[in-house]
Amino acid sequence: MANIINGKEIAQQVRNEVTNQVQQLADQGIIPGLAVIIVGDDPASQIYVRNKEKAAAKAGINGQTISFPADVVEEDVLNKIQELNQDDTIDAILLQSPVPKQIDEQKMQSAIDPSKDVDGFNPLNIGKLFANRAGYYPIANTPKGIMRLLAETQVELSGKFIVILGRSILVGRPLFALLEAQNATVALLHRYTPDELRHNLLQQADVVIAATGVPGLVQGVDLKAGAVVIDVGITRLPDGHLTGDVDFTTAQEVASAITPVPGGVGPMTIATLLQTTVELAVQHHQMEL
Ligand code: NAD
Repeated sequence: MANIINGKEIAQQVRNEVTNQVQQLADQGIIPGLAVIIVGDDPASQIYVRNKEKAAAKAGINGQTISFPADVVEEDVLNKIQELNQDDTIDAILLQSPVPKQIDEQKMQSAIDPSKDVDGFNPLNIGKLFANRAGYYPIANTPKGIMRLLAETQVELSGKFIVILGRSILVGRPLFALLEAQNATVALLHRYTPDELRHNLLQQADVVIAATGVPGLVQGVDLKAGAVVIDVGITRLPDGHLTGDVDFTTAQEVASAITPVPGGVGPMTIATLLQTTVELAVQHHQMEL
């Protein structure tokens, strides 16, 4: 039976670290500032943004939410981003996804100052990640949180074979770069990967990271004995329950360690967002902790 990786507990540890760091900054007169821009009234996004604001407040971070109506013109959002780029009290800016179609999301991501790009979606930061540059730059928070989960679980990555399912810029792609930089051999699978190839590669994988939103895509029989399984997927079932991409019941019989859904990767994402906000504040004010 697999060891269940307790994302909630590790996320709490990260939050405690963040709270301590915020306290240290406050002692030096600095309150980290996080600006969250939301466009339109998508109910799920409203909940995410509210949770981010609450978590920020709890950690002592100055969280601000800037809401635009669904029919806002692109220029207004762009002007706000530029204003926040100039605002010395703001260290971190994020644009909640999705945005209405008249707003070019990539253009907005590129407009966010790379040194305030808390989601790590500015092409300059993505480029640094893929070039494996030294020095500090923000990295997307879900993949960064997963790296922390793997580290806390003492999963050896060097020389291992890792299968990632899903290639979004939010999860799969940055993870590919992060894991490859740790000398793992990484296969990045997507919806056009033939089923047979997916099954073959999964059989050989030491670590499987599923981020597709396809419930039940990974079954216990797909896994190599002792594999580590990280389930990023979140799908709400008709009965209201949340489920991941991995069939937990069969997978836990074969895996050596596995994340549950909920309570695995999810809590890490928000904790890591707070961590990145503090890191950007430290960089911005040229502090040391
Ligand atoms: P997305 O829709 O942008 O990407 C889905 C990816 O899955 C695509 O790359 C697609 O090619 C791939 N895919 C689809 N079917 C596949 C198959 N049969 N085999 C292999 N790959 C396949 O989604 P996303 O934003 O990357 O999110 C993925 C999932 O992770 C969703 O369920 C989302 O809710 C969840 N998510 C969770 C967190 C968290 O904090 N836990 C954060 C981000 C996303």
